[in-house]
This record gives sequence, C-alpha cells and structure tokens, in this order.
Amino acid sequence: MHTFDPVNFRGQFEFFLQNPGWVYLDNAATMHKPRAVVSAVNDFYQRSNSNVHRGAHNLSQHATRLFEQARDDIAAFINAKERQQIIFCSGATAALNQIAYGLMHTVLQPGDRVLITALEHHANIVPWHLHCVRFGVQLDVVPLTNDYQVDQTAFAQLLEKKPKVVSFSHVSNVLGHVQPVAEMVQLAKNAGAITVIDGAQGIVHEKLDVQALDADFYVWSSHKLYGPTGTGVLYGKTALLEQLTPIYGGGEMISEVQFSHSLFNILPFRLEAGTPDIAGVIGMAAAVNWLQKFNIDEIKEYKAMLLKQFFSGLSQIPGLDILSSPVHNAGIVTLNVQGEHPADVAELLSQQAVAVRGGQHCAMPLFNQLKLAGAVRFSFAPYNTEADVATSLHALTQAVEILT
Ligand code: PLP
Repeated sequence: MHTFDPVNFRGQFEFFLQNPGWVYLDNAATMHKPRAVVSAVNDFYQRSNSNVHRGAHNLSQHATRLFEQARDDIAAFINAKERQQIIFCSGATAALNQIAYGLMHTVLQPGDRVLITALEHHANIVPWHLHCVRFGVQLDVVPLTNDYQVDQTAFAQLLEKKPKVVSFSHVSNVLGHVQPVAEMVQLAKNAGAITVIDGAQGIVHEKLDVQALDADFYVWSSHKLYGPTGTGVLYGKTALLEQLTPIYGGGEMISEVQFSHSLFNILPFRLEAGTPDIAGVIGMAAAVNWLQKFNIDEIKEYKAMLLKQFFSGLSQIPGLDILSSPVHNAGIVTLNVQGEHPADVAELLSQQAVAVRGGQHCAMPLFNQLKLAGAVRFSFAPYNTEADVATSLHALTQAVEILT
C-alpha cells in the first residue's frame, strides 16, 4: 500500500504556501527547506545558541550534545559503521577539496594517476588541478558515449593504467543520468584504486548505504537534500580519513600546539578546524530525520512519474534538442531550443514563473565537448506536482513560439 501523499509532502514547505505561483524546477541547484528544518535552525539560535566542544557551561554542553547527536543521526542515515566517519564541512566542494588536498603527498605521489569522468562538476575537477595535478599527478578522463553516458568500456580500459584514485559523480548534475555506481566502485577497487563519490545529486535520488556501496569516500551538500546551505558531509573509511592531511589548521583539530609544531586531534575533529556551522549541522540532521518519515522508494517512484509525464510532453514540442535520457534518470532534464541561447529560454520561463537554470551548470569541459554554449536544466523534486509539469511544458511551448 502506498503511503506517499504528494499534497501532504508539499504542504511541509512554507515556501510553497507563501509563493503558490512559482513552479520551482531548479532543485539540482538547491532545494527548498521544510518547516522541520527551518524550526530546528531557529530553535537552536533562540534556545541553545552557544559554541560547541569548548565551554564548561551547561549551554555549551547542550549545544555540543545537539551537534554530536546530529553526527549520530547522519551516520545512521547512511549506515556508517562509526560516527567518526562523518566529517562536517561546508559542502561537497569543501569535501572534495579536502580529499584531493589530503591525499596528495600521503597516498598520491608525483607520477600517479587520478581518474574522473567527462561529466564531472567543476567541484570534482578543479580540486584535483589545484592540489594534485600541479604537483605532478596525471588526471585521466573517462569519455562519454554518443548518448552521453559514461563509456564503461573506456572506464575499464583506463583502470588498466592503475589510477590511485577514481573519483566520479553518482548522478550527473547536468544530465541527471545515474551512474552504475556500485559496479564502478567494485571495478575501481579491483584495480586497486581509492574510490571517491561525489554524491551531491546522488544522495537526493536514492537511499545510501555506505557499507553496502563500499566506496572509500562519499560526499554531499546539505542544501541539496532539504537542509541549510553552508553545511555538508565528507564520509570516509576511517583508515583513509586518518591519512588525509587536514586542509585547514586551527582550533578543534589539534591535540597539542607548540610554536615549533602541532599535533592533530583524533577523528572526526582533526578534519574540522574552527567553529563549525552549528545551527547548519543541526538543521542538516533535522532534514534527514524529517525525510525518513517518508518512504524513500515511493518518493523515487513519484518523481519518476513526473519525469515520464515531462518527457512525454516534451515529445510534443517541436524544435528541441534534448540531451538527457529518460532511462536511469534522477529527475533532471537538460535541453536546448534549437538555435537559441539557453539564457534566453531560461529568462522567458522565469517571466512565466517557472524557475530553471540555463548555462553550463559548472561543467564547462562537458559543454566544450558537446560544442554547446550551455543548456536549460529542469530539475524535479518530490514537492513538484503534475500541475508543475503541465505549467512548465506550456511555458516552454510559449518560449519556443516567441523565439522561433
Ligand atoms: N557536485 C555536483 C554533482 C553538484 O551538482 C554540485 C552542486 O551543484 C557540487 C558538486 C557542488 O556542491 P556545493 O556547491 O554545494 O559545494
């Protein structure tokens, strides 16, 4: 029996009550926050505001308990073995920078190879340039097939070059394509590589069990999973987290400081320098606790139904170049109106209160390969409705008519 009620789900979001006119299809950029999250952040500032891990007073101890409870909740949410495997950071970008920086000169040496794919977000390209390539690490890239899927044959061939690290996104933020992540992790592990998964879009799509997936690192941003901006998670296997050189030094991450040297704290604190975004972390945990009240598989089915309707409507609109495939798609559709700039299409949609993103979606190398200036991205969430699908299709038809 289905228990997922889309009307009840949407009703959890004050934004839609206050702004019923907006069709918000920019969820891959950031999601709206349910009342449970807004209240958790608000409550912290109104009732419990204090710094964590340092005050002797009760208020600070209370804040510390809330903050560390958030770590337990998030560890349980992804089935992590140990709570210390959850490192709080500002988001997927920060986590990937910490991993790339932290592996260089410990695991990675000049001459080693790192393997990524052609559809990565800049957050999974530039940190490797910044922290590894400039010290002599070679970056290899798995190409795409003609239908914009990661070429699995080329992936297997590139693994023969024995990369030390294989880093790829669970779900493409541009196309919405879901990678066969478990299979790719196993192949990479068989080839002896450390696996890093950029889960910024993936964790939104399906239930994550890090022990079953067995990747070495999995990272995401809270704001794409109903939580506050400015927070996120770097999950890692303990032995590897211990090998990461901390990217930031300062308070909390040390056990001893002399003017001549410093010694680092134990996990998770050694990778969490400075005052964290305490309210943000509490809000992030509130988001995952709230989400678990719903059946995640049914949410997935509901989103797939919206996507099917959207693709079916698109097939009736002439003059579109649709880049995304409906198969193994997490709810993101990217397209162009033939001969028109994506920014113009996005603007015309915005004028009809349909929020989408036009541009290169932080994936410039992908668009260079596709020889496109960019594309318009429609990204769906479970609070979207069948009416949103219809309105956005109508708005796109209008945009096409105006432009062509
Ligand atoms: N990776 C992917 C696949 C993304 O979609 C994004 C954000 O769009 C990021 C990384 C970076 O996330 P953030 O900007 O929250 O750090």
